Amino acid sequence: MTSRLYPNIIITGTPGCGKTSHCESLVESLNDELRSHFQHLEISKVARERGCIDGFDQERDSSIVDEDKLVDSLEPDLREGGKIIDWHCCDVFPERLIDLVVVVKCDNSVLFDRLSQRGYPDSKITENIDCEIMQVILQEAKDSYAPEIVIELSSEDLETMDDNVERIIQWINSWRENNPD
Ligand code: ADP
Ligand code: MN
Ligand code: MN
Repeated sequence: MTSRLYPNIIITGTPGCGKTSHCESLVESLNDELRSHFQHLEISKVARERGCIDGFDQERDSSIVDEDKLVDSLEPDLREGGKIIDWHCCDVFPERLIDLVVVVKCDNSVLFDRLSQRGYPDSKITENIDCEIMQVILQEAKDSYAPEIVIELSSEDLETMDDNVERIIQWINSWRENNPD
């Protein structure tokens, strides 16, 4: 049993797969009542705002997040519930605080184009495409959470993103029915 009135949802996946787009569309698509209880946490920003950056990895061209400090900082937020966590790393949050893990997937050639458009160096594009092909993040999610709370959703276009968001909203409504106030 949980004391949260609203579920915590991780939306994860390889960089460029559409995490932030899905989170933003999800929040916009909630009705006014539900929206007032949910918050999108873009972790790369939150980590910076809360002083949880622990250097810069030159080789991988990305900031290093102090994961312990970040998770400690987010614990009170997650206890409240209604948090939508937007991050490529999904395996650091305690199981007891997470209700659903959505792994967003994307076709490799579409992902390649998106990462090129971001101006990523070739090494970073290759690393992320390999990550998507090897299903690294899906595997991390499965290793860290109960299989029944991990779902995979694919999307390359806006229509499938809408379908995915609709599915997540249906899941939220059913979670609410099963966890009454
Ligand atoms: P992430 O947060 O996983 O890095 P983003 O949501 O920022 O990914 O998406 C990367 C790029 O792909 C953005 O330019 C976004 O507009 C585009 N994009 C993501 N998902 C879709 C989609 N389902 N349909 C069309 N464009 C998308
Ligand atoms: Mn993002
Ligand atoms: Mn990780």
